[in-house]
Amino acid sequence: MTTFPMLLTGARVVTPEAVLDAGVVLIADGTIVAVLDEERDKVRLGPLAQDILRSAERVELSGGYLVPGLVDLHVHGAAQAGYDDGARAIATAVQAHRRHGTSTTLLSLITATPDRMVEAIRGAVDAASTDPRIRGIHLEGPFLADSRRGAHDPTKLLAPDPAVLDRFLGAGQGLIRMITMAPELPGGLDLVRAMVSQGVHAAVGHSDADYAQAAAAFAAGADIVTHAFNAMRPLHHRDPGVIAAARDAGAVLEAINDGVHLHDATVRLLHAVAPDRLALITDAMAAACAADGHYLLGSLDVDVEGGVARLSEGGSIAGSTLTMDRALRRAVTEVGLDIVDAVNAATRVPARFLGLEREIGAVEPGLAADLVIFDDAWQVRAMLLAGAWADERRP
Ligand SMILES: [Zn+2]
Repeated sequence: MTTFPMLLTGARVVTPEAVLDAGVVLIADGTIVAVLDEERDKVRLGPLAQDILRSAERVELSGGYLVPGLVDLHVHGAAQAGYDDGARAIATAVQAHRRHGTSTTLLSLITATPDRMVEAIRGAVDAASTDPRIRGIHLEGPFLADSRRGAHDPTKLLAPDPAVLDRFLGAGQGLIRMITMAPELPGGLDLVRAMVSQGVHAAVGHSDADYAQAAAAFAAGADIVTHAFNAMRPLHHRDPGVIAAARDAGAVLEAINDGVHLHDATVRLLHAVAPDRLALITDAMAAACAADGHYLLGSLDVDVEGGVARLSEGGSIAGSTLTMDRALRRAVTEVGLDIVDAVNAATRVPARFLGLEREIGAVEPGLAADLVIFDDAWQVRAMLLAGAWADERRP
């Protein structure tokens, strides 16, 4: 796709270090060419940029914020479609999240029988082959602790099993980037090592690990916590569990910032614990961007009321109906995080985690022009993917 040079002005530009009140972003050939601060730089450009500038279309944004495309590491679906249900369903749900600012995504697949998971993995591989912004697969299970299983089918949980892991990785054709597992299960640490040696992130989650067990997992190469505080042993002052071990090991902490899964003060606490390693995720299920009602999450029945998804049996919270734009909006307006920190948690931190920091995740020269334009109240006004408008919306 050819895209014409474009000069975006008039919005506050959020870079990894600062909010530029009079920022100017020049994009050409799908890439960010220059990021300038009109006040401080008086727009000094090299000869090449001068040429591009002359031919660039000037887009006046009249307020709001310009941020990188949002990156979701943990999401199961939207618009009544689930990422376990094949390429068409995946495309529907990815599109729904894209309208809410998610440019780059992993596809999270829920615990099921190995046969069923392999089928789901194949569907995800299919979907990724036609959408370059699907950057991999996250398996949530089946090696999870029964006592912390949340909304995963207890009859489908397995003890860590390298043969099953190999089946998954074979079906994934290099696209499986992360697996959530409980490292305290028998064989758990060996499984962490097997995953890490094959380039797969081991995510500690749905786990009853105590501090020592979690620390051992991070020492073995695990480097992220799946939805911190949810579905794990709580942080107790004499039994500080996964969260404290993750802090000590420098692991990334996922947070579901929907005001339901975590108290806003808990999100502030996570940010204080790991200011540059907090990753906002949605953990959204098919009921995101869709009406309340009855849904299936894997094989389990879920009722969604007021946007809160709960297992029909037992009532534990089951995924969210969150979208990344709302996660970011809440982080700024409800939680009170600094704008730069909140934006980094939705963009740069997950991009870096995926090893994509030289491609996406920041408003910086040389990176892809995947950009979201928010209004002053942090509602999405429009979105650019590789410098082209993503849909019919214009600022
Ligand atoms: Zn999940």
